[in-house]
Amino acid sequence: MINTNDSKYYQRIPLWKDISLEEWNTREWQLKNLVTDVEMLSKVIKLTDKERANIERASRDSKFQATPYYLSLIDENNPECPVRMQAIPTIAELEEGRGDLLDPLAEDADSPVPRLVHRYPDRVLFLVSEVCSMYCRFCTRKRHILDRTSKQLSSEHDKAINYIKEHPEVRDVILSGGDALMLSVDMLEGIVSRLRAIPHVEIIRVASRMPCVLPMGVTDAYVQMLSKYQPIFFMTHFNHPFEVTPQAASACDRIAGVGMPVQNQSVLLRKVNSDPNIMKKLSHELLKMRVTPYYIYQCDLAEGIEHFRTPVSQGFEIVENLRGHTSGLALPTFVIDAPGGGGKIPVMPNYLLTMSDKSAVMRNYRGLMSSYANPRDRDCSCSTSEEISKTLAEEKPINRAYMDLVDGKRVTLKPEI
Ligand code: SF4
Repeated sequence: MINTNDSKYYQRIPLWKDISLEEWNTREWQLKNLVTDVEMLSKVIKLTDKERANIERASRDSKFQATPYYLSLIDENNPECPVRMQAIPTIAELEEGRGDLLDPLAEDADSPVPRLVHRYPDRVLFLVSEVCSMYCRFCTRKRHILDRTSKQLSSEHDKAINYIKEHPEVRDVILSGGDALMLSVDMLEGIVSRLRAIPHVEIIRVASRMPCVLPMGVTDAYVQMLSKYQPIFFMTHFNHPFEVTPQAASACDRIAGVGMPVQNQSVLLRKVNSDPNIMKKLSHELLKMRVTPYYIYQCDLAEGIEHFRTPVSQGFEIVENLRGHTSGLALPTFVIDAPGGGGKIPVMPNYLLTMSDKSAVMRNYRGLMSSYANPRDRDCSCSTSEEISKTLAEEKPINRAYMDLVDGKRVTLKPEI
């Protein structure tokens, strides 16, 4: 593991030995100095001729790009360094996998207008950008979407926002891509402010891997802008405890500091984090940064990433090792995004063994069995059920309290029922 507590950690790499800490820690410098080819990469880590040739071949189909910051976390002494495996192409990407699919999540079929995926009743995925600061080698979308920015970016944003306006059932919008924070502050604000003005949009989620791969990219300008449009949830993506550095912690602190909850979605990757203790440690490290471990995804059936896939049973082993062995806060839900567009399906070891009218028999995390006696009276109807169901049927938000700027001051808007 690279010790990034030493502020000059990156200067061990000759290419960056003269870069000042001030420059290194800016979004601008990092984005201007992205590593995008094997020539430059060979100045960062030692590569054999065979590795160079393989990287060149593998990156013809799906672009190679990584931030200097993320590459500086590579441990050269470990050929299976988890940071290296996520960032550097390998020849395995050219192999055909078992069950590979072109559009593994069938997002195209659920896309009513460009950039929008409307699969679940009350929420949409809004792909605001095709660009990332780093192209993760296991990315589901890397071959077909990423780095192919449309010339009609603004007009496609407009169409997607109009669709959301016209669909009152949409109460939750996830801004993703690509990486939402690759848009300029102004462009992102243009989208977020228009969404916030739509009365039925209650929740906006902003998805970005920047806290992990380019923490200095999460600038005050972004977080201050976003904080004006609460409630905003920030969805990020750490896969290994070695990614949790002081720099990453400081980015998460900037986000959480303005009141945006931060949630983490990991992908289970063979030989990167496919180990129960690694995932437990990751959960603990995330919580220390005020980041909630939200999901662990089974790796999708996208082309060229079979070498990253684990058997589903490995996810079970990880969940078994977390539940009961650490606090509930550290327990992400293990999900498989069902191939063919079935959506996220939670899968977990079975703790409920039998259930009858009289009782439920369960086992705990240590295998200890116990029985829970059901009550005699089974009527579960509630006096407020009808009233609440009516508000749901009318798609009327139950609680519209959110922070907003009124005359330059932050105020809580009252719920409208
Ligand atoms: S940041 Fe997300 S969208 Fe971008 S390459 Fe990585 S996994 Fe894919």
